[in-house]
Amino acid sequence: MTWYHESMYDAGAPAGSFWEDDAPPLPSGVDLGPLDAGQGDTVCDVAIIGGGYTGLSAALHLARDHHIDVRLLESGPLGWGASGRNGGFCTLPPSGLSLNQIIRRYGEDEARRFMVSQVDAVDLVRNLARDEGLDIHPQGDGTLHVAHAPDRFRGLEEEATFLGGTFGMSVKLMSREEVAETEYDSTEQFGALLNCTGFGLHPLRFARGLAAAAARHGAKLHGKSQVLRWEKSGAEHRLITKSGALRARRVIVATNGYTQDDLQKPLADRVVPVLSNIIVTRPLTDDEIAAQGWRTQRPCSNTRQLLFYYRMLPDRRFLFGARGDLTGTPQDGLRMRKTMERRLGEVFPHWRNIPTTHYWRGFVCMTARLTPAIGQMPDDSTVYFALAYHGDGVSAAPWAGRALARIIGGAASFDEIPAPFRGIPPRILFPSLRRWYLGVALGYYQFQDN
Ligand SMILES: Cc1cc2nc3c(=O)[nH]c(=O)nc-3n(C[C@H](O)[C@H](O)[C@H](O)COP(=O)(O)OP(=O)(O)OC[C@H]3O[C@@H](n4cnc5c(N)ncnc54)[C@H](O)[C@@H]3O)c2cc1C
Repeated sequence: MTWYHESMYDAGAPAGSFWEDDAPPLPSGVDLGPLDAGQGDTVCDVAIIGGGYTGLSAALHLARDHHIDVRLLESGPLGWGASGRNGGFCTLPPSGLSLNQIIRRYGEDEARRFMVSQVDAVDLVRNLARDEGLDIHPQGDGTLHVAHAPDRFRGLEEEATFLGGTFGMSVKLMSREEVAETEYDSTEQFGALLNCTGFGLHPLRFARGLAAAAARHGAKLHGKSQVLRWEKSGAEHRLITKSGALRARRVIVATNGYTQDDLQKPLADRVVPVLSNIIVTRPLTDDEIAAQGWRTQRPCSNTRQLLFYYRMLPDRRFLFGARGDLTGTPQDGLRMRKTMERRLGEVFPHWRNIPTTHYWRGFVCMTARLTPAIGQMPDDSTVYFALAYHGDGVSAAPWAGRALARIIGGAASFDEIPAPFRGIPPRILFPSLRRWYLGVALGYYQFQDN
């Protein structure tokens, strides 16, 4: 079941992102296009549903490191989902829980394993770029978490204690004055926590780079190949697309916020897609940048629950993102764009009337337990899944794809997955009320943010 407007799932339509205008196309031959029905079913060892970072990383690592015959099916062009259209913040952790909550729920050892794995995930992105020659346009050394109101600085102090103390990460608390002097100023800047681990990147270049690398190492990638039906007979899965079918012994579900309850039944009612929205301005002039006191290359997010995330792109366009909207209709999209343009002007008054050139949105994915999920279906050990990075999948998703490849390739076991990540997420109570739950959460967060 999906309750968002059908246009949100139209994989034939471009996302409308700035990245699509700014990234080189895939080299020819990387996307093999729809499965060919002419020669009967296509056969492989591992089939992957979903061509974002999770699926592409799984394909790359299965083919490159474990020499497994793998094929990937993606509804749209490769990278069409969240992976090709996100904000490009390569950061951590991928969870809707606070660090304190993660420790309380899973214990300090598992929380530490989780955080170490996600520092490793950021390194994985850097290493993939280096080893596979991916031109991802890395930007900024570290990310800033900014207090949007004076009373939110306390929360940053607590975060610094956990990140720096408990988890031994390199962090630095910065006062309002220090941030204004060295990073930027705004009406919603009251000090920040610098986390030295993350950086910014060009998300579509990263997705297409991963695809090209996976194809180079022998993975077969099929864009425009939506899986419409999934059958199982004996030990074999049969994934049926409009133009042909793929038979495989094992299947990886890598569909994240685009998971459809009726297709991937075992995952039905276990994930909640949430809309995230982005606007991008025209390139700013030197004077405009100086007027607002913007000095940093670092991606920033603030302490709002309905999160503002923003960064200056290499060509001086300003990217500004926010969560919100429960419908996905084109009309609500226009309303969201206007609201975000107004809020950008309030938070950065010197950029109040700067036109935006792009607005787009897409799904992030959450679970009821508020942590991501990597695992094997309880009723079928030949079906694997990795999803629900809670809006922080740029590094977590490639890491999860590699983790599944290592498990399938026999190089690791599920014990190596930190507990917050491990296993199938619980079913959502009364799933038909998901939209209502989200509406209540949205209202509550709006109240908390003000
Ligand atoms: C606007 C926005 C901003 C974001 N910003 C950030 C950020 O700055 N930093 C960060 O870390 N994370 C961010 N995220 C989240 C991040 O992009 C995701 O967590 C990550 O890309 C998930 O990768 P994935 O491969 O699991 O899923 P996706 O990239 O969403 O890929 C899933 C794919 O499955 C395909 N699919 C679904 N059903 C089928 C089917 N039946 N047959 C074939 N294919 C199917 C879909 O077409 C889709 O392409 C953002 C997300 C959005 C939407």
